[in-house]
Amino acid sequence: MLVYPDFYCDSVRDITIEFLKEHNIKGIILDVDNTLIDYYKKFEDGTVEWVETLKKAGIKFCIVSNSNKLEKVKYVAETLKIPFFYFAKKPLKTGFLKAKNEMQLEVENVAAVGDQLMTDIIGANRCKMFSILVKPIAEQDIFITKIKRPIEKRIIDSYLKKIKKEKV
Ligand SMILES: [Mg+2]
Repeated sequence: MLVYPDFYCDSVRDITIEFLKEHNIKGIILDVDNTLIDYYKKFEDGTVEWVETLKKAGIKFCIVSNSNKLEKVKYVAETLKIPFFYFAKKPLKTGFLKAKNEMQLEVENVAAVGDQLMTDIIGANRCKMFSILVKPIAEQDIFITKIKRPIEKRIIDSYLKKIKKEKV
């Protein structure tokens, strides 16, 4: 289903080099709000180091954010030393495809990570990229996200039920 992620984990830091190799992923597209930073623009401990470690292993990165706040997205990109696209209008494909081209990779070698099904996951799936859903860093979120959360929760719950069934 277009709305289901290929993988679901607590945090970006759960994405390991072994996991990426296993799925033939050479580049990662990152969401910003609630995936990398919280409401107060703070990174969670270990996130910057996580990017550095994967970079050393040859993984490429690019930020694709729906935020229209250039200064904020630029700050995150500069801290991580990776390219960025902001005001991306996910789930439209444009931002994802620009990022893929920036990393000079094919879609099958790209994973896109984010905390929202309606933008990050649907967009990645539409581009046939490997989609990874992470738990939002803080529940303290912008107004629009709060409206969408109850729907997302229902979809995530049914997704978890489905994969549980498949494992049995
Ligand atoms: Mg987000």
